[in-house]
Amino acid sequence: MNTAINLISDTVTRPTVPMLEAMFSAKVGDDVFRHDPTINALEEKAAALFGKAAALFCPSGTMTNQIAINVHTQRLDEVICDEYSHIYQYETGGYSSNSGVAINLIKGQHGKINAAQIAAAIKPDYDWLPRTRLVVLENTCNKGGGSYYTLDEIAPIRDLCQERGLALHLDGARLFNALVETGESTEQVGAHFDSISICLSKGLGAPVGSLLIGEADFIRQARRVRKVMGGGMRQAGYLAAAGIYALDHHIDRLRIDNAHARRLGAVLQDLEYIEAVRPVKTNILIFDLKAPLDSEQYLAYLAENNVLASPFGPNTVRFCTHLDVSETMIDQVEKVIRNYGK
Ligand SMILES: *Cc1c(COP(=O)(O)O)cnc(C)c1O
Repeated sequence: MNTAINLISDTVTRPTVPMLEAMFSAKVGDDVFRHDPTINALEEKAAALFGKAAALFCPSGTMTNQIAINVHTQRLDEVICDEYSHIYQYETGGYSSNSGVAINLIKGQHGKINAAQIAAAIKPDYDWLPRTRLVVLENTCNKGGGSYYTLDEIAPIRDLCQERGLALHLDGARLFNALVETGESTEQVGAHFDSISICLSKGLGAPVGSLLIGEADFIRQARRVRKVMGGGMRQAGYLAAAGIYALDHHIDRLRIDNAHARRLGAVLQDLEYIEAVRPVKTNILIFDLKAPLDSEQYLAYLAENNVLASPFGPNTVRFCTHLDVSETMIDQVEKVIRNYGK
């Protein structure tokens, strides 16, 4: 497992030596009393990065999203999102059990929805309908193959939400993979959303942690919700130190991961056993195999050749590039995928 080239997810990275050194030398305290200087520094850094008043360090991106849904809504409200959304697909249906809200799914394009679709999905104010309250966008979209929104696409959604009194949350688990492509700034992103969730433990390479970012009242309430969800941590400044290190050193290099995914996508495109490669926009590469080849068979072949990847359907496979995948490893993966069936 240790020597395999692991393309299962960008969550599989281990902290680098300098990141570990930053963790070792962190000054810590009890964060439930807000006495951990490193967590305070990380939260201030993240808030400033997005031009918002405050931020909250949490154990996972699921928790930051679930807290955001909880703070933005009341029971019997509904959340609008794309059908591929992480909050719908991969958070154990938590919107329902944690917040008692309904979900209103839109069929978007590669996980992206637009203002016209959202406008058509907003429910009128009748007692027998859930109250539409929150829109969640995902950038980049995981199940959408790493697709991303530009701010030009988000602006009309922002305007619509303001007009109709809806909150707008960004699930930005992999936001920085998009920003290195678009060249847009975090401040610009901050200005478009009421709340933003980012993951430190995906492409940024920290072992643990996500941040929820927003205005002061929102984060004050979020802190209470984090506590009741069991997310109040004590000397977690050791983890926050990894997060600070990641924000300082691991953002720009995401272009390398994106380029690696594009390179493998271009190779797969021309191979006989491939049915289709979804557009490769960032560090996620999703492709369909030509029948009768199925993902189980293909993943077994890859594993025999020291390459690990994940099934994304009976005939669909996902590769995810990250910090622990070097160019030499990509050379090796290219060889392996070219050799299939030879
Ligand atoms: C990974 C991910 C999350 C958060 O997942 P955790 O494993 O709970 O940290 C949220 N949204 C998206 C789009 C993700 O890919």
